[in-house]
Amino acid sequence: MFKNMIREIEKISKQQTISIPVKADKDGCIDKECPVEDCCFGFKVNETDWANLFKDEAVYCPQCGHVAPSKSWWTKEQIKEAKKQAFNFVKYQVGNALSLGAKDFNRQPQNGFITFKLKVNGVQSRYVILPIEAQEAMEQKIVCNQCNARFSVIGAAFFCPCCGHNSVERMFDQTLEKVVSKLNITDKFKAVLDDSGQKDEAVITCQSIIETCLSDCVTAFQFFCEKKYQTPVGEKKISSQSFQRIDFGSSAWKKVLGQGYEDWITKEECSELNILFQRRHLLQHCNGIVDEKYLEKTGDQKYRLGQRIVVSKNDVEKLLFIIKMLASNIRLMTGTSSLT
Ligand SMILES: [Zn+2]
Ligand SMILES: [Zn+2]
Repeated sequence: MFKNMIREIEKISKQQTISIPVKADKDGCIDKECPVEDCCFGFKVNETDWANLFKDEAVYCPQCGHVAPSKSWWTKEQIKEAKKQAFNFVKYQVGNALSLGAKDFNRQPQNGFITFKLKVNGVQSRYVILPIEAQEAMEQKIVCNQCNARFSVIGAAFFCPCCGHNSVERMFDQTLEKVVSKLNITDKFKAVLDDSGQKDEAVITCQSIIETCLSDCVTAFQFFCEKKYQTPVGEKKISSQSFQRIDFGSSAWKKVLGQGYEDWITKEECSELNILFQRRHLLQHCNGIVDEKYLEKTGDQKYRLGQRIVVSKNDVEKLLFIIKMLASNIRLMTGTSSLT
């Protein structure tokens, strides 16, 4: 009795894997998620590239650069859905086994006044494992200029998930886009805080956001220069820090490209660039308080010793314009004018 049922249940317990397919979205991309708890960055990779280009041993998070084997990138949604389907499938198999057991039992000859019949309710006749649906397609589609892997993201993506290549140009562009978004949000943010009667907080917070924008621009430009600069053979590599000095940076580029900042922007813009870079230095190291070095390096007439500098939205917009102009000339002359 119940032989078939026991055999079926043994079969289920021995079954190692249940395969649940994952659907691609309308662009042929599948969802992935960074396994690092603090990051959890969601992105998509082209399904064909995932099969042909990506390596089993290493996939990179586009946002934080974390490296993990390809099996570690399931999204929380996919895991949840897979668990649900696997549970339901096992439930169906157990139900079927019980049903077989009941049939066996009912077939046994029974003698006597009272006869028993077993009935198992709620057993489906068949069970279909459904593929896990894809999330909506993502707007920002990227092709890695090193390995040609296609992937898409929402927001900033610094690393190629397939080869880990960090595109300097893309990183620079995305930082600048982030600055523009931060600037745009300050007015809305201020209005919300003002409405809720938090006028002081509104001014302090918005000022602080604008100051971080200035800092983001300077850091992005320094990093861009450091990575794009091809140090002449036999010379010491220039650090990103050194590109904080405008005159130094300009002459370094002149040395390798034959042109410097003064060839790409006006004299006034050069001087504004220097002032804004030095103001960022003050914010970073002197709490924004004007010191002698600042006055000496910039000749800034707007401030006297001991004052605290004020960074306006307009300052950041000006800086954005200037560093974009410089970067596009550097790209042009180093042969990478397009987005990579
Ligand atoms: Zn990550
Ligand atoms: Zn790549």
